[in-house]
Amino acid sequence: MASFNPALVPPSSPDGHIAAHRYIHVVGATVFVDDRPADPAWPVHFLGMLDDEACWGVDVPHGEDPSYGAATDLFSYYGRASEPEWLVAGRAVQLVEWGRTHRFCGRCGTATEVQEHERAMKCPACGLLAFPRLAPAMITLITRGEGDDREALLARGVQFRAPMYSCLAGFVEPGESLEEAVTREVREEVGVEVADVRYWGSQPWPFPHSLMIGFTAEWVAGDIVCDPTEIIDAKWFRRDALPNVPPRISIARKLIDAWLMDG
Ligand SMILES: [Zn+2]
Repeated sequence: MASFNPALVPPSSPDGHIAAHRYIHVVGATVFVDDRPADPAWPVHFLGMLDDEACWGVDVPHGEDPSYGAATDLFSYYGRASEPEWLVAGRAVQLVEWGRTHRFCGRCGTATEVQEHERAMKCPACGLLAFPRLAPAMITLITRGEGDDREALLARGVQFRAPMYSCLAGFVEPGESLEEAVTREVREEVGVEVADVRYWGSQPWPFPHSLMIGFTAEWVAGDIVCDPTEIIDAKWFRRDALPNVPPRISIARKLIDAWLMDG
């Protein structure tokens, strides 16, 4: 599988090792990949090298569409592209969107400039630096019981478009650790207490700029009481009676699949 190496600038000549270019045109929040930019005047962000392919995010101006409607959102692009190709497209969307929303200094309003030696925008007047936005969000699979009676707490969020049940998720608040975010969100959303909170894995989630941080936790006490502003329904499910769960693109599904495989 191809591997991606992030970089601020393309490798220099003479050898360069660039066999091809991958221009990821970001049209709104959708992507259209081509081997050259549709318009050389549009802003680009160099992303890095996907093996020997130089990857660029192209900031397609509002109202333009070089794909004539063929650009796809990142959900649809998953499965059509390899995992590394999908991840680099997500990176393009996040960095282009960051550039679009940090054109001016948040403190004094001066137009920002791209920093040369790090991924940042700098205000030439007051020096304020703006780095790419990343919102850490934790996602937790809660389990209880033993053997065949072991079950997982899955919930249907108010924002889910499809009728499915997933792990509990929420954004980390300023001032709290990831583990504290897990216990707080679980308590707020379904009213149960958990312990043995363990890091499981993470996943970039470019919708629009989250980093999903997966945990497992063990139920300790409490009956399920849903917060109706967040959760429509939550239940305990045995492995042999799972409801509809999220698609394979999500870390929630990977957490559930890992639990299913776990004997
Ligand atoms: Zn400023």
